[in-house]
Amino acid sequence: MPSDLHIHTTASDGRLSPQEIILSAIKAKLSYIAITDHDTVSGLQQVSNINTGNLSVISGIEFSTDYPEYEIHILGYNINIYNTQLQQTLDILVSDRQKRAERILAKLKKLGFIVGYDQVLRIAGTASAIGRPHIARALVEKGYFKSVSQVFEQLIGYNGPAYEPHYKLKVPDAINLIKNAGGKAVLAHPGLTNNIEVIQWVIENGIDGIEVYHPTHTTDQEQFFLQIAKTNQLFITGGSDYHAIPGRYPEKLGEYTIPDSLARMLNAAQE
Ligand code: AMP
Ligand code: FE
Ligand code: FE
Ligand code: ZN
Repeated sequence: MPSDLHIHTTASDGRLSPQEIILSAIKAKLSYIAITDHDTVSGLQQVSNINTGNLSVISGIEFSTDYPEYEIHILGYNINIYNTQLQQTLDILVSDRQKRAERILAKLKKLGFIVGYDQVLRIAGTASAIGRPHIARALVEKGYFKSVSQVFEQLIGYNGPAYEPHYKLKVPDAINLIKNAGGKAVLAHPGLTNNIEVIQWVIENGIDGIEVYHPTHTTDQEQFFLQIAKTNQLFITGGSDYHAIPGRYPEKLGEYTIPDSLARMLNAAQE
C-alpha cells in the first residue's frame, strides 16, 4: 500500500483541515501519512486523539531556512510536538509571520492594494502560520487579481515589490531542533536547490534523510538523489507536498505516493 510523507493542512497554507486530510487518506487507502505544516504543529495537536484505524499519522514539520540565494526546506519526522525548545521556537516563528504579514500589507497599501489584516486572518482561519498564500487569496477575493499565482508573479514572489521575508532558522539550527525533539531531519525537495555543493553541505551538517521523491523532480533527479542518499546512508523519503489547491498537482490525496517500505524504515528508526 502507498504512503505520503509531505502534506500541508489548514494549520499552515493547505486548504484541507487535518481532520479532512485523515479522512481523505483513509479513503485513498494510504498506510502512512506525515502532516508537515510550515512552522507549526498545531494541526497535529488537533488530531492527536483521533482513531485513524489502519492509517499511521507521523508527526512532521517543514522549515524554510535562512540560506543565501537558495531555498532550503528541512522536514522533521517523528518529532515530539510537545518538546519545549521546539514549542518556544515555533512561537517565535509564528509571531514573526504575523508581523511580516502586516509588513506585506503596508507595502501593498503603498502600491494601491488595500487589504485589511482582519481579512487575511479570516481567510487564514485556524492557521497558526500565516503565509503569503493567505494574503494572495485576500487580494483575489477583493478582485484585484484573478489568481493566487498572479499575485505571486506580480507582487509577493521572491524580490517582488511587496515581498517581505519571514524569520528563518539557519540550516544547522533547524536540523538540531528536530533532532533534539527526537525526530529525523530530512532535506525537502532537493530539486529546488539542485546544487550538489549545497546538498553536500546540508549532509555535512547532519541531515538524516533526503526527500528523493517529490512531484517537481524529474526521473533523472530521482535517480541522482537516490544515489546520494544511498552513498551517505541516509533515509529515502518522498511525498506529494499536498496543499489541496485547485490546479496544483496533485489535486487529490493518493495521486502521488511512495512505497510503504520507505515510510516503515523511517518509522523503525524511532526509539
Ligand atoms: P511563505 O511561507 O509565507 O513565504 O509562503 C510560501 C508558500 O507560498 C509556499 O509554501 C507555497 O505553498 C506558496 N507559493 C510559493 N510560490 C507560489 C506561487 N508562485 N504561486 C502560488 N503559491 C506559491
Ligand atoms: Fe506551502
Ligand atoms: Fe517546501
Ligand atoms: Zn511543503
